[in-house]
Amino acid sequence: MQFLEALKLRSKLLFLFLLITLGLISVGIMGTIYVNAMKKNIDSLYFGSLVPVTELNEILQKYHNGLADTVYKASRNEMSSSEIIFNLEDALHDIDKKWKSYMSHFKTDEEMEYIEYTNIEIKATNRYFRQILYAAKNGKDLSQISINTLEKKVEYIHRVLQKLINYEVGVASFERKKFLHTYKSMLLQIGTVLSAVILIVLAILFYVFKSIQKDQTQLELAAKKLKIANKKLENASYTDSLTGLHNRRYFNFIYERELKRAKRNKTYITFMMLDIDYFKQYNDTYGHVEGDFALKSVAKVLKDTLKRPSDYVFRLGGEEFGVLMSETDESNSAKLAREICDAVRGRELKHEKSKVGEFVTISIGVVCCVADDALNDEILISRADEMLYEAKESGRDRYIITSNVSEATTKHNDEAKIA
Ligand code: GH3
Ligand code: MG
Ligand code: MG
Repeated sequence: MQFLEALKLRSKLLFLFLLITLGLISVGIMGTIYVNAMKKNIDSLYFGSLVPVTELNEILQKYHNGLADTVYKASRNEMSSSEIIFNLEDALHDIDKKWKSYMSHFKTDEEMEYIEYTNIEIKATNRYFRQILYAAKNGKDLSQISINTLEKKVEYIHRVLQKLINYEVGVASFERKKFLHTYKSMLLQIGTVLSAVILIVLAILFYVFKSIQKDQTQLELAAKKLKIANKKLENASYTDSLTGLHNRRYFNFIYERELKRAKRNKTYITFMMLDIDYFKQYNDTYGHVEGDFALKSVAKVLKDTLKRPSDYVFRLGGEEFGVLMSETDESNSAKLAREICDAVRGRELKHEKSKVGEFVTISIGVVCCVADDALNDEILISRADEMLYEAKESGRDRYIITSNVSEATTKHNDEAKIA
C-alpha cells in the first residue's frame, strides 16, 4: 500500500472511485450472466417439460373424450352419423396436430427411442379410429363395433402415453433440481464476489483515509512549524539584536497603540528618552566592544527596573533608549527615572573621560500626563527630547520631568523639574 501513500489526495480519491466502479461493474456482469443462465433454465423447464406434458395430457384426453366416447355412443346409436363423423375427424385432427407439436420440441437421443415407439402406437391406434370413421362415412352399421376391442385399444394407448408423461415429469423434476442448483451456486458466487469487493473496498478505503489523515497531520505539523518560524521572524523583526530590547519598528507600533488606549481610558501615559553621557568618548577610550557591553548593561538595568507587563523598553537607535509606561503618575515616573539613573551609575562601569563622574551615567527626559483627545500624537516624543536636552545642558546624570504637553511650550520652560 506504499504506492497509495505516495499518491496525491485527488489521485487517491480517483483510485478509490475507480475501484468501487470496477467492483460494481464486475458484480453487475456476474449478475447478468447468472440471470441469463436462470432464464435458460426456466425456458428449458417450461418448453422442455411443462409444455410437452400439457400436450401429452391433452392428447390422452382426446383419446378418451373425443374418440372413445364418440365410438361408444355410436355403438349404442346415441349419436347422429354427422355428429360421429365431425367428432372423430375433429379429435383425430387435433391429436395429429398436438403430437406433431410435441415431436417438434428438442428431444434427447434417449427420449427419441421411446417417442419413436409411441409414434408407431399412436399411428396404429389412429388407424383403428380412421377405419371406424370410414365406416361411418359409408353409412355402415356401427352397433357391431366391439366395445371390448375399443377399450383395449384406448387402454393400451393410455398406458403408452402415460409412460411418456411420466418420463417427461421425471425430466421436469431433474430440470428443476438443476435450476435450484444453479440458483444456489449463483447466490453463493454473487455473495462471495460481493463480500470480496466490499472487503477490498473497505481495506482500500481504510488505507486511503489513513494516508489522508497522515497527510493532514503532516500538513498541520508543517503549518505549526511555519507559525513558529513566522513568530520568530516577527520577533526578530521587532527585536534589537545587541540588547534584546524592542527596536524602533516595534516602538512605532506600540507607541501608537498605547497612546490610543490611554486617550480612550483617559489615563496616565509616560514616555522617557534616555541617552548615555559622553558615550562617544567612552567608545574612543575603551573601544566599540566595551561600548557594546555598556549598551547591554544599560539595557539590563532598564529590563530589571521596569517589570510590569505594561512597561515597554526600546533601543531607539545608537545609544538612545526609550521607555513607554501606562497608568503611572508623575511622582512614580520620576521615582523610576531616578532609580534608572542610580542603577546605571551603580553598575560602576569605569568612564575616565566622563565629565560628570568616574562611571558611566545616563541622562533622561521624561514626560508624564493624563492622555485625552486633545493630546497631539508627536508631542510626547518632542517634549521628552526637549527634557533630555535640558538634562544634558544642566549637567547630565539626571532626569528632567514635565507634565506640560502644550504645543506652545519651548525647550527652556520653567515647569521642568530637575533631579
Ligand atoms: P552626550 O553626553 O551629549 O550624549 O555625548 P555623547 O558622546 O554620548 O554624544 P552622542 O550621543 O552624539 O554620541 C553617540 C555615540 O554613541 C556615537 C557612537 O560612537 C556611539 N554609538 C552609537 N551606537 C553605538 C553602538 O551600537 N555601539 C557602540 N559601541 N557605540 C555606539
Ligand atoms: Mg546620543
Ligand atoms: Mg550620548
